[in-house]
Amino acid sequence: MSADLKSTVIFCPTDEHDFGEHFQDQFRKALMQLLPAVGAGGGAPWAVKVPLGVPGNPNPLSAELMSAASLALQNAGQSVGPFFDTISITTEGLHTADGLMQRAENLGLPDFKVGDDPLGPASTSLQLSEECSMPSVGLSAVGAEAGGMLVLNSVRPHPFLGLGGAMLTLGNGVLDRPTKLILHRDVKPTVDTPLCAGCGSCLAACIFDAIAIRSGRAMIDHKLCTGCGECMSACHLGGIGPDSGMSIPRFQKLVAEAAFAVATRSQAGQNGALLHANFLTPMPREAGGSYGRDRFLKGHFGVLLSTDPVALDQATWDLLVDGAVHGLRQWSGFLQEPTPLMERAVTLGMGRRPYEFLNQA
Ligand code: SF4
Ligand code: SF4
Repeated sequence: MSADLKSTVIFCPTDEHDFGEHFQDQFRKALMQLLPAVGAGGGAPWAVKVPLGVPGNPNPLSAELMSAASLALQNAGQSVGPFFDTISITTEGLHTADGLMQRAENLGLPDFKVGDDPLGPASTSLQLSEECSMPSVGLSAVGAEAGGMLVLNSVRPHPFLGLGGAMLTLGNGVLDRPTKLILHRDVKPTVDTPLCAGCGSCLAACIFDAIAIRSGRAMIDHKLCTGCGECMSACHLGGIGPDSGMSIPRFQKLVAEAAFAVATRSQAGQNGALLHANFLTPMPREAGGSYGRDRFLKGHFGVLLSTDPVALDQATWDLLVDGAVHGLRQWSGFLQEPTPLMERAVTLGMGRRPYEFLNQA
């Protein structure tokens, strides 16, 4: 990879309401700019990871935007395989292969595969080194078959990270569902009883039936809870938080280590053929986005791209907090920031937090 592009982040800004042809063209050109800096697929087609199951965002990327990505790969002479996403552990309807297929069909997305379809090929186990907390992670079959991976992320607030972007997708979103459940299992949310108004939003959000309302307050059964965090996103009063100070940094480090496994042990990672794009799209409250919270956006919409997922998330973070007095929490509504994740990723050699910012406005 060309050294001068390694930690470059390209930003293509756009108007809040315009992700149309001009923006798609800018996005495609930015991809073309970065593609010569990464490896080829080594004979196997690239796969494009798409964000179909993004909680809190009713506007996933359009089929046209996803197709622009595919076109850029073809223009760069790469062989292009399927679009794929993996089965969510959270979102209603997207925690089954059928739910994901339906979502892809509704969007008009051609050549879509469920990455970890239980009826399809088995996941591939990627071993982690002894210094890591888990011995291995399960990479979805489609991700494992890919010679290169273009990872499209819809940036969103995340209860355990603050910001969910490229690192979360690499260290969770391309993995199989059993691995995602292992990553989350140590986080046991608890209800701040005096804050709870007994509204039931968390109960409706929990697909694991781990919440009940008793005496007008929510209660969580930790035997059923998977730690998915969806209830924390659903509570408009911020009445649900992590159980201990240690579980969140531990979760963040696990995600960084899982991302490291994909970046170094997958076929695409070993080919040096990984490219990441963080999309900043509107999440209107009235449409159920933004988890019903007011969020500080300062008009930053568009896409950031990089070969370095650490630099990319850092640049996205910096853009989102630009001018925000209360930092990332003003945007996300959650107390967490992804510091342990980023620090672990840097220690593992996954990327750099300093970056060169190219604004394509
Ligand atoms: S969403 Fe929040 S306020 Fe409503 S029942 Fe759950 S914890 Fe209580
Ligand atoms: S109670 Fe547990 S399983 Fe249910 S939404 Fe909350 S974190 Fe997820």
